[in-house]
Amino acid sequence: MEILHVTAECYPVAKAGGLGDVAGALPKYQVQLGHIAKLVMPMYRTKFLFQNEFDVVHKGAFNMGPMWFNYTIIKEQTSKLGFDLYLVDINGLLDREQVYGYNDDAERFTAFQIAVVDWVAKWEHKPDVVHVHDYHAGLVPFMMQNCYAYRHLAAIPTVLTIHNAQYQGWMGWDKSSYLPAYDSWQWGKLDWKDSINPLASAVKCAHRVTTVSYSYLEEMRQEANGLEKLFQYEQGKCTGILNGIDDKVWDPAVDTYIDTNYSLKDIDKGKLASKKVLCDEFNLDIEKPLFVFIGRLVGEKAADLLPRAIYDSVYHLEGKMCFLVLGSGDPQVEWELSNLNMPLAGYYNSKIGYNEKLSHQMYAGADFLLMPSRVEPCGLNQMYAMRYGTIPIVRNTGGLKDTVVDIGETGGYGIKFNDAKVWDITYSIHRAMELYADKPKIKGIKKKLMQIDNSWETSAQHYIDLYQSLQ
Ligand code: ADP
Repeated sequence: MEILHVTAECYPVAKAGGLGDVAGALPKYQVQLGHIAKLVMPMYRTKFLFQNEFDVVHKGAFNMGPMWFNYTIIKEQTSKLGFDLYLVDINGLLDREQVYGYNDDAERFTAFQIAVVDWVAKWEHKPDVVHVHDYHAGLVPFMMQNCYAYRHLAAIPTVLTIHNAQYQGWMGWDKSSYLPAYDSWQWGKLDWKDSINPLASAVKCAHRVTTVSYSYLEEMRQEANGLEKLFQYEQGKCTGILNGIDDKVWDPAVDTYIDTNYSLKDIDKGKLASKKVLCDEFNLDIEKPLFVFIGRLVGEKAADLLPRAIYDSVYHLEGKMCFLVLGSGDPQVEWELSNLNMPLAGYYNSKIGYNEKLSHQMYAGADFLLMPSRVEPCGLNQMYAMRYGTIPIVRNTGGLKDTVVDIGETGGYGIKFNDAKVWDITYSIHRAMELYADKPKIKGIKKKLMQIDNSWETSAQHYIDLYQSLQ
């Protein structure tokens, strides 16, 4: 089969979160299963662009409302990511360093999607399926089916994967003229609660919808940032396919980001060496259990609870543990976390920002990974942590619910709690401390974690089966 993925992120080209990891891995595994997988994304001005060679494969132009844009599609020459990578260049809109966070994101991603559809419309042959990811690509199915210029694409099956339903790309109806001319009576396929909602549009128009875990799909019928009714109505075409991890990239035995590689046979030595690097750099005590948090400092991740939970734990559990936080996001949370560095020096430290190397070092060197998420569609961090023999402490939600088994259950290897509350987090830390004291048990769990198979092979095949059911 020939699959075209449309996405705003892809590791290592540009990554802001889990979407980037998934988009960088899924097509590669689909190629390994014998299919042709291509991926198209915006040409941001990231390092990857300047460090690799590209060919121009297409040039075109379109208007978006009163604005006229030229676009260029370039292809990475060697398919070094394991699949064909195409980048869309639109001067004035996509030529930025960051993926998101600009005032004109609505214009940027709408233009990106028009360029993609316009380019696909010019292909001599057509892909067997167009797989769009999140709201940034959510208007593609609508355009393929309803815009006059692209109607010959209408028969191509489209699949939407929702990595995060919190962000939907809402646009006022004043921006409807941005879209290429379409049957105006079809406006309902764009609308949700009086605005253009690209994610809702994709749920309505795509032939199938997947979410990145089974539990997240169930939860979205109850809580989906305003789209609950839509998910209830469209449940017949929705399925959950759990994300995998790229276990070739995330492998402590070969990971080039960590100073000391290790595998099952030298897990203790390897993890201790990584822990030492962290403790030396961040002034923490290597003798104590190390709890880490890595991620976006936003409400979904319950990062706002961390300062209090960390402070209370250090005080009530008499500083018998250490904490290290890496992340960026809400300025208030960043400020609160940074402000704890001094008073809790020796017990806690934080690094505000995005740092791929440090994140790998933390997965390797930590004893426990905290994920108190309020919403977690799948969550990759817990799976990375497990691959590196680090015990996940997670809230029982979404993909965390599906991938972690509590130590209180038969065969359990993690710690789970129900509520995104400070008390639940501190109680879980308390449980972790008890576990840490039981050396043989914790060693057994770490070994078990490293052997859990969360790789992409199975999930990539599930997607292929889904595409095939649409042919
Ligand atoms: P989300 O996509 O909601 O942010 P996921 O758990 O699916 O969450 O994926 C998060 C990914 O982003 C992981 O690879 C994690 O290691 C990485 N990540 C998040 N924040 C940072 C950071 N500040 N520095 C380095 N990596 C980060």
